[in-house]
Order: sequence, then structure tokens, then C-alpha cells
Amino acid sequence: MFGFENRYGEPSGMNIRFIIGVIIALVSIVGYFSSREYNPVTKETQFVSLSPKQEIALGLRATPQLIRQYGGMHPDQNGQAIVDKVGFRLVKQSDAAKTNWQYEFHLLGDTRTINAFALPGGQVFITAALYSRLKTEGQLAGVLAHEIGHVVARHGAERMAKSQLTQGLTGAVAVASGDASATQIAQVVGELVNMSYGRDDELESDRLSVRFMAQAGYDPRALIGVMEVLAQASGGNRQPEFFSTHPNPENRIEKIKAAIKEEFPGGVPSNLIP
Ligand SMILES: [Zn+2]
Repeated sequence: MFGFENRYGEPSGMNIRFIIGVIIALVSIVGYFSSREYNPVTKETQFVSLSPKQEIALGLRATPQLIRQYGGMHPDQNGQAIVDKVGFRLVKQSDAAKTNWQYEFHLLGDTRTINAFALPGGQVFITAALYSRLKTEGQLAGVLAHEIGHVVARHGAERMAKSQLTQGLTGAVAVASGDASATQIAQVVGELVNMSYGRDDELESDRLSVRFMAQAGYDPRALIGVMEVLAQASGGNRQPEFFSTHPNPENRIEKIKAAIKEEFPGGVPSNLIP
């Protein structure tokens, strides 16, 4: 075996430096390739992570189809204006303002499905069925702040990286880059809409929404009211769709109360919007 020697035949520090260099090169090569994945179906190597720009583009692309799927935009302009007012107040007057997501709020026409969604990148939706059951502005803020929490925490992109959706990421990237067929768009939107977040993601969004609400001047206890509205709705024949994608409201109330206590150790101020 050849030793490493300098040109004068003396042993040198090259030995260790060379080995360290090789290790660093190997680590970076392994790191580079593990951020890509081989897709045996397309027989292509693909990137599996979405950039924020791609996330925003993906959400925007999926929006028209999601709106169609849930009864179109609600004809009530006044309702849409209220959703916009509360939504933008939340994103402008809370920690959410520190991020560059492109927010839009949509009141959907669906009067049967009780649900709210967020697409990656900032598109937020609430159905007329859920909207009409809310009793106060603060409750609406609670729903929207929870969805904003999913956007800010990038739960969608996280899920997509972890789950079966990885399979569809070729499609997702194509959709994000404006380079997809109608079929691909439909497939990716379907996956996004039916994607359920994990329990931890939901509780994280609840915690974030308590903070965002308080920062924007809403009483975070209104989020407990939202859980009660959902629990009441589940008493009827029709189980709200919300439950297929969100944990049981009763189980969340205690966690929300704990988060409020953490945010306001001395009690909730009295001047917040209920
Ligand atoms: Zn959620």
C-alpha cells in the first residue's frame, strides 16, 4: 500500500487531511442524493421537497378546483367581506405577519359539509355550513387562525414529504411549475383536499391559533366555542366532515384551555373581541 508522502519523500499532514476531505465529500454527496428520490414508476430521479414558492404555486393551482368541489364561492358578498376582514386582521396583526405566505380567504357555497381547510402556501377556506353555525366574530377568528396555523407550520408540505403523497410529488411539482395536465391537477388537488394532518399537527395549530387570536385582539376562548359548535353539530344525524380530518373537539378543549393559560398566566384581558 502506498503511503501519503510529500514530494521530498517525507510523511505529511496530507494523510489525515485527505481522509477528512474524502469523508466531507462523501457526506455531502450522500446528503445531496438523499434529498432526491428514485421513482420506479416514471424511472426518474425526483426532488421530494417543495420550496415555499412551489408551495404557494401549488395552493393557487389547486384553489379553483377546491372551490368547485365545495359548491363554488358563496354568493353572500357580505359574508365573504367578513371572512376577509377577520382573516387579514389575523395575518397582519400576529406572528403570521413575519412569514411571506400569500393569503386568500374563501367562503365556500357548500351548506352541508361542515369544514374548513388550508392549502399549502396560504389559501384558506371555510364552508357556508360551518360559517353559518358560528355565533361570534371571535369564533370565526378561531377557525381561520387554526387554518393559518397549518399554513405557517407548513404541515401540508411536511405531510406531503412524509406520506404516500410523495408518490404524487412529480405531479405536485409539475402543478406548482404550471406544467401539469388537467388530470395531474385533479389528482394532486384530490390528495391535498383529503389529506388529514396528524393529531400533533392539529394540536400545534390550536396552540398557534390561540396565540394569533390574542395578538390580533380576539379572545382566544372563542376557540373553545368553536369546539362546542362542532360537538353540537355532531349530535345530529350528519357527522361533520371536520371530524374525518380533525381530532374530537372534546379532547381538544382541555389542551386549548392549557394553551390559553400559558399565553395569559394572569388571566385573559377583558378588552378582547369575543
Ligand atoms: Zn386542522
